[in-house]
Amino acid sequence: MTRVDLHTHSRASDGTLTPGELVTLAGESGLSAVALTDHDTLAGLPEARQAGEACGVEVVSGVELSVADGDRGVHIVGLFLSDRPGPLAEALEYLRARRHDRNHEILAKLARLGIPVDYAAVTALAEGAVGRPHIARVMLSMGAVGSLKEAFTRYLGNYGQAYVPKVKLGFAEAVALLRAEGALVVLAHPYILGQSGKALAATVTRYKDMGLDGIEVFYTEHSQAQTLEYLSLARRLDLALSGGSDFHGAAKPGVELGRGRGNLRVDGTILDGLKERLAKRS
Ligand code: AMP
Ligand code: ZN
Ligand code: FE
Ligand code: FE
Repeated sequence: MTRVDLHTHSRASDGTLTPGELVTLAGESGLSAVALTDHDTLAGLPEARQAGEACGVEVVSGVELSVADGDRGVHIVGLFLSDRPGPLAEALEYLRARRHDRNHEILAKLARLGIPVDYAAVTALAEGAVGRPHIARVMLSMGAVGSLKEAFTRYLGNYGQAYVPKVKLGFAEAVALLRAEGALVVLAHPYILGQSGKALAATVTRYKDMGLDGIEVFYTEHSQAQTLEYLSLARRLDLALSGGSDFHGAAKPGVELGRGRGNLRVDGTILDGLKERLAKRS
C-alpha cells in the first residue's frame, strides 16, 4: 500500500524546508506522492517537480488560500493546478502585495510596543509569501518572545496586541479562480469551522453549491470522531476525500511529513479518487 501527503508548506511560504528538500524527504519517508500547497504562491512548484522527477516521487501542484465566507475565515486547497499561468497568478500577486502592506502595519504596531522588528530579516525567511510566522521567527531570534506560540498569543494572533486582519478573496471567487486553472478545490482542515452535525452539513452543502470538490478528511489535528464525521459527510454529499499533514518543517514542531503527530495515514487510493474526480469533471 502506498501513502501520500496532500497538504504541505515549503520555504516558498511559511515552511522551513526548500521545495526540493521537502520532496526528497517525502521519498525518504516512503511517500509515493506529495502535494506542495504553499500559501498564496506557486513559486515552489518548479523546484518541487524537478526534485520529484529526480527521486521518483509524484508531485501534485497545489496552493492554499485563506478565503472569506462572510465573517468566517476558511482555508481551501487547490490541487492539480495547470502549468499555464492564468488569472490565478495575478490574484496571488495581488494577495502577496496585500501581505506586504499588512506586514508593515504589524511591524508598526510592534514598534509602538517597543519591539523593533527588521523587515529585511523577515523577508529573508521566505521566497514567496511572507506572513506572521516569519515575523514570529524573527521575534523569537531577537528574544522578544520565548516561543513562536507566545508571539501569536501575545502579539500576532487574532487577539494579540499587534493583530492586523488579512485581505482575503471571497469563497465563491476563490473557488472559481482555482477551477479556471483546472484545479480540484478541497476544504482544508474542516475542524477549524468548529461545527458538527446539521450546522456543518449546511455549511459544506453551501460550499459544494459554490463549486467545492472535496474535503480534507484526514488531517493532523482531527480526532477520530471528527475524521469519521467528515468521512460520512463527504460520502453523503458526494464530495471527494483528501488528506494531508500541513507539514511546515521546523515552523510546526511535532508535525511530520505524511505522519502528522504519528497517527496520520493518507492512503494512495485517496489520490486515485481525486484523480478520478478530476477526470469525471473534464
Ligand atoms: P498568515 O498567513 O500570515 O496570516 O499566517 C498564518 C499562519 O500562521 C498559519 O498558516 C499558521 O502556520 C501560523 N499560525 C497561525 N496561528 C498560529 C498560532 N497560534 N501559533 C503558531 N502558528 C500560528
Ligand atoms: Zn502555514
Ligand atoms: Fe490552513
Ligand atoms: Fe496549510
